[in-house]
Amino acid sequence: MQKLYDVIIIGGGVVGSAIARELSRYRLKIAVLEKNLDVCFETSGRNTGVCHGGFAYDPGTLKAKLCVEGNRMMGALAQELDFPFKRTGKVLVGNTDEEYEQLGRVMRQGAVNGATGLSMIGEEELHRLVPSVQAKFAMLSRNSGILDPFLMTIALAENAHKNGVEYHFDSEVTGIRRSGNENVWEITTAHGDTYAARWAVNAAGLGCGKISDMLGIRGYKIIGSKDDYIILDQRLGALVPMPIYTVPSNTYMGIHVTITTDGNVLLGPTAEDTDNLSYYGTEQKNLDYLYQEAMKIWPHVKKSDYIRTYSGILPKWVDDNGKIQDFKIEIRDDLAPNAVNLVGIESPGLTASVAIARYVIDMMKEREHFAENVDFDGTRKGITRFALLTPQEQDALIQKNPDYGELVCRCEKVTKAEILQAIHNPLGAHTMVSVKYRTRCMMGRCQGGYCQMRISSMLEKELGIRPTEITYERAGSHPFFGVVRSEAESRREAQ
Ligand SMILES: Cc1cc2nc3c(=O)[nH]c(=O)nc-3n(C[C@H](O)[C@H](O)[C@H](O)COP(=O)(O)OP(=O)(O)OC[C@H]3O[C@@H](n4cnc5c(N)ncnc54)[C@H](O)[C@@H]3O)c2cc1C
Repeated sequence: MQKLYDVIIIGGGVVGSAIARELSRYRLKIAVLEKNLDVCFETSGRNTGVCHGGFAYDPGTLKAKLCVEGNRMMGALAQELDFPFKRTGKVLVGNTDEEYEQLGRVMRQGAVNGATGLSMIGEEELHRLVPSVQAKFAMLSRNSGILDPFLMTIALAENAHKNGVEYHFDSEVTGIRRSGNENVWEITTAHGDTYAARWAVNAAGLGCGKISDMLGIRGYKIIGSKDDYIILDQRLGALVPMPIYTVPSNTYMGIHVTITTDGNVLLGPTAEDTDNLSYYGTEQKNLDYLYQEAMKIWPHVKKSDYIRTYSGILPKWVDDNGKIQDFKIEIRDDLAPNAVNLVGIESPGLTASVAIARYVIDMMKEREHFAENVDFDGTRKGITRFALLTPQEQDALIQKNPDYGELVCRCEKVTKAEILQAIHNPLGAHTMVSVKYRTRCMMGRCQGGYCQMRISSMLEKELGIRPTEITYERAGSHPFFGVVRSEAESRREAQ
């Protein structure tokens, strides 16, 4: 007989995982169905990692409310779940009278939204805070910050799993129907598995429109906005003590020079509407544009410092005139009872994710009483980063476990012990990129040139699989597909 869940969440990005974790505070049987082989292979792993202050959104919108709430809770959350977060502050810089007025408007809007720590600062104060920037004044948002989006998503998912949530990867939802007699949702995946649940939650990110249609809530128009970025060497990190943004419009945040929690500088984004929600290539003309625009506010970009480019796609819900809409979070009792439908969760979805989750659960609790899970444990410990420890702490770890004494990734100084913990992660995600996102191996200057083969050998050994079974990221992305020369042949040739 089919297993009956209380809640099935479709999509295991930061929003689906935040909902899973918040729901695990209650005595509920919960599963997450995720199309990919890990939790942050779509937008939650392809963003800027900025914890936004909440000033850039129209007053009265969910974007404004949930961003401000999400920002407030980020410090405590990061501590509880052990992911990197720094309240660095952020500046929006300008030069002209018009830009000064616009920043004043943004600041007043922020105050209405409940964002705190906003002020206008002059050139002297700006250069004291960010000496490397080129601008005459700025709006400072003291409460903005930066976080590691991979580890935040992984942390939420691991904590949800610790509290009983099942994660099913490689489970693309292809059909949903309401079984009339039993009042349950029957959810089918691409591999033909069927799940039954009393509640369904659409947290499918770029797939939100399709899932909404499957639930019977039709008509949402979703377009993609594709953003290309350049990642620069950590060498430049000290020159960007906080994210540097230009003056935003209502629809575009503007070019920014920002920094990751590991000290890489990011230049971006472009913003191009697209119907292709799975194409992540970066275009040379966009990279050239980013270089020119970034140099206007931060004249330190050297092409020799480029280490990689990437892109992300925002799922924007638009009306018939193409106007971008607010987050939609709804329960349509008339069309799809016991289903929570999240549509158009674009930026600031990362900052707002846990606030979104609490908002979702409040809506569900208006319709059903959930008994508290008295065993809920909201803490989670991540993999200790050897490279960030003092020499004494490093020595102590090596004494306890000699695998800490073996470096696998030289650029980011990731040890064998860390890679082993990542391979045996609690969610059971087993791709090479899963190891990368958990440890930073392959993220340094050489982009895996040195460590990639070592990691694939470790995956092979630890999981007892053949080289051809190793997956790089997406299902079917096997880096090895055959044998060029057998061991026996190699031995014969060596004799
Ligand atoms: C370039 C860029 C920069 C950004 N910068 C910031 C920032 O600095 N700060 C901020 O707050 N926000 C930022 N955002 C927004 C933020 O990243 C997103 O709002 C957030 O990650 C959305 O999370 P999600 O879980 O809804 O979506 P996703 O991470 O896309 O997760 C949805 C999941 O659903 C899965 N899925 C889809 N269809 C199906 C299906 N049929 N069956 C099963 N699973 C399915 C997908 O595989 C995916 O894993 C940025 C976004 C972009 C693109």
